[in-house]
Amino acid sequence: MQKFVEDAGIEKFRAKQIMDWIYKKGVLSFAEMTNIPKQAREKLAGSVAIGGLGLVKKLDSKLDGTEKYLLRTFDGFLIETVKIHGSKGLTICLSSQIGCPLKCRFCATGGMGFKRDLEASEILEQVLLFKKDPKNDISSLVLMGMGEPLLNYYNVMKAVKLLNSKDGMNFGIRRITLSTCGLPNEIRKLAKEELDLNLSVSLNAPNDSVRNELMPINRKFPIKELMKAIDYYIQNTRRRVTFGVCFDKRSE
Ligand code: SF4
Repeated sequence: MQKFVEDAGIEKFRAKQIMDWIYKKGVLSFAEMTNIPKQAREKLAGSVAIGGLGLVKKLDSKLDGTEKYLLRTFDGFLIETVKIHGSKGLTICLSSQIGCPLKCRFCATGGMGFKRDLEASEILEQVLLFKKDPKNDISSLVLMGMGEPLLNYYNVMKAVKLLNSKDGMNFGIRRITLSTCGLPNEIRKLAKEELDLNLSVSLNAPNDSVRNELMPINRKFPIKELMKAIDYYIQNTRRRVTFGVCFDKRSE
Protein backbone atom coordinates (compact mmCIF):
# COMPACT_ATOMS: atom_id res chain seq x y z
CA MET A 1 0.00 0.00 0.00
CA GLN A 2 2.91 2.33 0.79
CA LYS A 3 4.38 1.68 -2.63
CA PHE A 4 1.00 2.25 -4.24
CA VAL A 5 0.46 5.65 -2.64
CA GLU A 6 4.06 6.74 -3.22
CA ASP A 7 3.82 5.74 -6.88
CA ALA A 8 0.69 7.92 -7.07
CA GLY A 9 2.73 10.85 -5.67
CA ILE A 10 0.93 10.83 -2.31
CA GLU A 11 2.58 10.90 1.14
CA LYS A 12 3.59 7.46 2.45
CA PHE A 13 1.71 7.88 5.75
CA ARG A 14 -1.59 7.94 3.83
CA ALA A 15 -1.14 4.19 3.28
CA LYS A 16 -2.06 3.47 6.89
CA GLN A 17 -5.10 5.73 6.67
CA ILE A 18 -6.32 3.89 3.58
CA MET A 19 -5.70 0.49 5.20
CA ASP A 20 -7.69 1.62 8.25
CA TRP A 21 -10.61 2.83 6.12
CA ILE A 22 -10.77 -0.39 4.17
CA TYR A 23 -10.03 -3.03 6.79
CA LYS A 24 -11.11 -1.44 10.06
CA LYS A 25 -14.15 0.48 8.79
CA GLY A 26 -15.13 -1.48 5.68
CA VAL A 27 -15.12 1.66 3.51
CA LEU A 28 -14.58 0.68 -0.11
CA SER A 29 -14.70 4.09 -1.74
CA PHE A 30 -11.93 6.73 -1.73
CA ALA A 31 -14.58 9.46 -1.72
CA GLU A 32 -15.58 8.49 1.84
CA MET A 33 -12.00 8.58 3.21
CA THR A 34 -12.45 12.02 4.70
CA ASN A 35 -9.08 12.42 6.45
CA ILE A 36 -7.33 12.24 3.07
CA PRO A 37 -7.20 15.49 1.03
CA LYS A 38 -9.85 15.65 -1.69
CA GLN A 39 -7.29 16.04 -4.45
CA ALA A 40 -5.45 12.89 -3.35
CA ARG A 41 -8.72 10.95 -3.09
CA GLU A 42 -9.67 11.94 -6.61
CA LYS A 43 -6.25 10.97 -7.90
CA LEU A 44 -6.48 7.54 -6.24
CA ALA A 45 -10.05 6.95 -7.41
CA GLY A 46 -8.96 7.79 -10.94
CA SER A 47 -6.26 5.14 -10.93
CA VAL A 48 -7.80 2.18 -9.11
CA ALA A 49 -11.14 0.82 -7.89
CA ILE A 50 -11.54 -0.86 -4.50
CA GLY A 51 -13.56 -4.04 -4.68
CA GLY A 52 -15.21 -5.67 -7.62
CA LEU A 53 -18.08 -7.74 -6.26
CA GLY A 54 -21.64 -6.66 -6.94
CA LEU A 55 -24.72 -7.86 -5.07
CA VAL A 56 -27.11 -9.70 -7.38
CA LYS A 57 -29.56 -11.17 -4.93
CA LYS A 58 -30.04 -11.77 -1.21
CA LEU A 59 -32.06 -14.71 0.06
CA ASP A 60 -33.25 -14.92 3.68
CA SER A 61 -34.05 -18.24 5.31
CA LYS A 62 -37.38 -18.20 7.12
CA LEU A 63 -36.18 -21.08 9.30
CA ASP A 64 -33.15 -19.59 11.06
CA GLY A 65 -32.47 -16.13 9.60
CA THR A 66 -29.50 -17.30 7.53
CA GLU A 67 -28.80 -14.83 4.73
CA LYS A 68 -27.37 -15.94 1.41
CA TYR A 69 -25.72 -13.34 -0.82
CA LEU A 70 -25.30 -13.99 -4.51
CA LEU A 71 -22.42 -11.85 -5.77
CA ARG A 72 -21.15 -11.13 -9.26
CA THR A 73 -17.40 -10.95 -9.87
CA PHE A 74 -15.81 -8.33 -12.15
CA ASP A 75 -15.72 -10.90 -14.97
CA GLY A 76 -19.34 -11.92 -14.66
CA PHE A 77 -19.21 -15.12 -12.57
CA LEU A 78 -21.49 -15.72 -9.59
CA ILE A 79 -20.38 -16.70 -6.09
CA GLU A 80 -22.17 -17.08 -2.77
CA THR A 81 -21.38 -15.71 0.66
CA VAL A 82 -23.53 -16.73 3.61
CA LYS A 83 -24.24 -14.88 6.84
CA ILE A 84 -25.15 -17.30 9.64
CA HIS A 85 -26.65 -16.13 12.92
CA GLY A 86 -25.62 -18.75 15.47
CA SER A 87 -25.74 -19.07 19.26
CA LYS A 88 -22.11 -17.84 19.43
CA GLY A 89 -22.65 -14.83 17.18
CA LEU A 90 -22.39 -13.99 13.53
CA THR A 91 -20.44 -16.26 11.17
CA ILE A 92 -19.61 -15.40 7.57
CA CYS A 93 -19.14 -18.37 5.26
CA LEU A 94 -16.74 -17.49 2.43
CA SER A 95 -16.22 -18.89 -1.04
CA SER A 96 -12.68 -19.52 -2.26
CA GLN A 97 -13.23 -20.64 -5.86
CA ILE A 98 -15.80 -20.17 -8.61
CA GLY A 99 -17.15 -23.68 -8.90
CA CYS A 100 -14.98 -26.60 -7.79
CA PRO A 101 -13.18 -29.37 -9.68
CA LEU A 102 -13.60 -32.01 -6.96
CA LYS A 103 -17.18 -33.05 -7.76
CA CYS A 104 -18.34 -34.30 -4.35
CA ARG A 105 -21.63 -36.04 -4.96
CA PHE A 106 -23.64 -34.17 -2.34
CA CYS A 107 -22.45 -30.71 -3.38
CA ALA A 108 -24.17 -28.31 -5.80
CA THR A 109 -20.90 -26.42 -6.38
CA GLY A 110 -19.15 -29.65 -7.37
CA GLY A 111 -21.85 -30.21 -9.99
CA MET A 112 -21.27 -26.87 -11.72
CA GLY A 113 -17.65 -27.51 -12.71
CA PHE A 114 -14.65 -25.30 -12.07
CA LYS A 115 -14.34 -21.78 -13.48
CA ARG A 116 -11.44 -20.15 -11.67
CA ASP A 117 -9.80 -19.44 -8.30
CA LEU A 118 -10.91 -16.34 -6.44
CA GLU A 119 -8.30 -13.65 -5.96
CA ALA A 120 -7.27 -12.88 -2.38
CA SER A 121 -9.05 -9.53 -2.78
CA GLU A 122 -12.30 -11.30 -3.74
CA ILE A 123 -12.09 -13.51 -0.65
CA LEU A 124 -11.42 -10.48 1.56
CA GLU A 125 -14.19 -8.44 -0.01
CA GLN A 126 -16.76 -11.04 1.01
CA VAL A 127 -15.92 -10.08 4.62
CA LEU A 128 -15.57 -6.36 3.97
CA LEU A 129 -19.10 -6.22 2.54
CA PHE A 130 -20.37 -6.71 6.10
CA LYS A 131 -17.77 -4.70 7.95
CA LYS A 132 -19.24 -1.23 7.40
CA ASP A 133 -22.51 -1.97 9.19
CA PRO A 134 -21.84 -1.88 12.98
CA LYS A 135 -24.73 -4.31 13.51
CA ASN A 136 -22.57 -6.96 11.83
CA ASP A 137 -20.40 -7.94 14.77
CA ILE A 138 -18.60 -10.83 13.08
CA SER A 139 -17.53 -13.50 15.56
CA SER A 140 -16.14 -16.08 13.14
CA LEU A 141 -15.24 -16.74 9.53
CA VAL A 142 -15.41 -20.10 7.79
CA LEU A 143 -13.90 -20.96 4.42
CA MET A 144 -16.65 -23.40 3.67
CA GLY A 145 -18.49 -21.80 0.76
CA MET A 146 -17.94 -22.53 -2.91
CA GLY A 147 -14.66 -24.23 -3.73
CA GLU A 148 -11.90 -26.19 -2.05
CA PRO A 149 -9.77 -23.59 -0.21
CA LEU A 150 -6.60 -25.69 -0.25
CA LEU A 151 -6.71 -25.85 -4.05
CA ASN A 152 -6.46 -22.05 -4.03
CA TYR A 153 -3.72 -22.15 -1.43
CA TYR A 154 -1.79 -18.99 -2.30
CA ASN A 155 -4.80 -16.64 -2.45
CA VAL A 156 -6.51 -18.18 0.58
CA MET A 157 -3.35 -17.80 2.68
CA LYS A 158 -2.88 -14.23 1.48
CA ALA A 159 -6.47 -13.39 2.44
CA VAL A 160 -6.25 -15.15 5.83
CA LYS A 161 -3.00 -13.36 6.69
CA LEU A 162 -4.50 -9.98 5.78
CA LEU A 163 -7.64 -10.71 7.79
CA ASN A 164 -5.45 -11.56 10.77
CA SER A 165 -2.83 -8.84 10.33
CA LYS A 166 -2.82 -5.87 12.71
CA ASP A 167 -2.52 -3.61 9.65
CA GLY A 168 -5.43 -5.44 8.06
CA MET A 169 -8.63 -6.45 9.78
CA ASN A 170 -6.92 -7.64 12.98
CA PHE A 171 -9.35 -10.56 13.12
CA GLY A 172 -8.30 -13.30 15.57
CA ILE A 173 -6.81 -16.26 13.73
CA ARG A 174 -8.53 -18.72 16.06
CA ARG A 175 -11.86 -17.36 14.87
CA ILE A 176 -11.08 -18.45 11.31
CA THR A 177 -11.88 -22.00 10.18
CA LEU A 178 -10.70 -23.56 6.96
CA SER A 179 -12.83 -26.47 5.83
CA THR A 180 -11.29 -28.91 3.37
CA CYS A 181 -12.26 -32.14 1.69
CA GLY A 182 -8.80 -33.32 2.74
CA LEU A 183 -5.77 -32.80 0.51
CA PRO A 184 -2.79 -34.41 2.27
CA ASN A 185 0.00 -32.41 0.58
CA GLU A 186 -1.66 -29.07 1.26
CA ILE A 187 -2.52 -30.07 4.86
CA ARG A 188 1.20 -30.74 5.44
CA LYS A 189 2.04 -27.38 3.86
CA LEU A 190 -0.53 -25.66 6.08
CA ALA A 191 1.05 -27.29 9.15
CA LYS A 192 4.22 -25.28 8.48
CA GLU A 193 2.50 -21.89 8.14
CA GLU A 194 2.55 -21.20 11.90
CA LEU A 195 -1.03 -20.01 11.67
CA ASP A 196 -3.30 -21.02 14.52
CA LEU A 197 -6.43 -21.24 12.38
CA ASN A 198 -8.97 -24.01 12.83
CA LEU A 199 -8.86 -26.89 10.39
CA SER A 200 -12.01 -28.84 9.66
CA VAL A 201 -11.95 -31.91 7.42
CA SER A 202 -15.06 -32.93 5.57
CA LEU A 203 -14.91 -36.67 6.14
CA ASN A 204 -18.49 -37.71 5.45
CA ALA A 205 -17.88 -41.47 5.47
CA PRO A 206 -16.59 -44.21 7.79
CA ASN A 207 -14.60 -46.10 5.14
CA ASP A 208 -13.03 -45.78 1.71
CA SER A 209 -15.76 -47.52 -0.24
CA VAL A 210 -18.45 -45.09 0.94
CA ARG A 211 -16.12 -42.10 0.71
CA ASN A 212 -14.98 -43.05 -2.80
CA GLU A 213 -18.61 -42.95 -3.78
CA LEU A 214 -19.35 -39.57 -2.16
CA MET A 215 -16.05 -37.79 -2.69
CA PRO A 216 -14.06 -38.83 -5.78
CA ILE A 217 -10.91 -37.21 -4.34
CA ASN A 218 -10.80 -40.15 -1.90
CA ARG A 219 -9.78 -42.43 -4.77
CA LYS A 220 -6.60 -40.40 -5.09
CA PHE A 221 -6.08 -39.82 -1.36
CA PRO A 222 -7.71 -42.63 0.66
CA ILE A 223 -8.66 -42.14 4.31
CA LYS A 224 -5.43 -43.72 5.63
CA GLU A 225 -3.29 -41.27 3.70
CA LEU A 226 -5.48 -38.36 4.76
CA MET A 227 -5.20 -39.40 8.41
CA LYS A 228 -1.38 -39.50 8.17
CA ALA A 229 -1.42 -35.89 6.96
CA ILE A 230 -3.81 -34.92 9.77
CA ASP A 231 -1.50 -36.58 12.34
CA TYR A 232 1.37 -34.60 10.88
CA TYR A 233 -0.71 -31.41 11.12
CA ILE A 234 -1.63 -32.06 14.77
CA GLN A 235 1.95 -32.90 15.75
CA ASN A 236 3.30 -29.76 14.10
CA THR A 237 0.65 -27.30 15.18
CA ARG A 238 -0.65 -28.80 18.46
CA ARG A 239 -4.08 -27.80 17.20
CA ARG A 240 -7.22 -29.89 17.20
CA VAL A 241 -8.78 -30.89 13.90
CA THR A 242 -12.53 -31.27 13.58
CA PHE A 243 -14.29 -33.62 11.19
CA GLY A 244 -17.40 -32.68 9.26
CA VAL A 245 -20.21 -34.88 8.12
CA CYS A 246 -22.69 -33.77 5.49
CA PHE A 247 -26.12 -35.28 5.91
CA ASP A 248 -27.60 -35.96 2.57
CA LYS A 249 -30.33 -38.36 1.58
CA ARG A 250 -28.15 -39.77 -1.20
CA SER A 251 -25.45 -40.73 1.35
CA GLU A 252 -27.81 -42.71 3.58
S1 SF4 B 1 -14.57 -29.88 -2.23
FE1 SF4 B 1 -16.22 -28.70 -1.26
S2 SF4 B 1 -16.93 -27.29 -2.85
FE2 SF4 B 1 -15.71 -28.86 -3.88
S3 SF4 B 1 -17.20 -30.37 -4.58
FE3 SF4 B 1 -16.44 -31.05 -2.57
S4 SF4 B 1 -17.86 -30.20 -1.06
FE4 SF4 B 1 -18.21 -29.11 -3.01
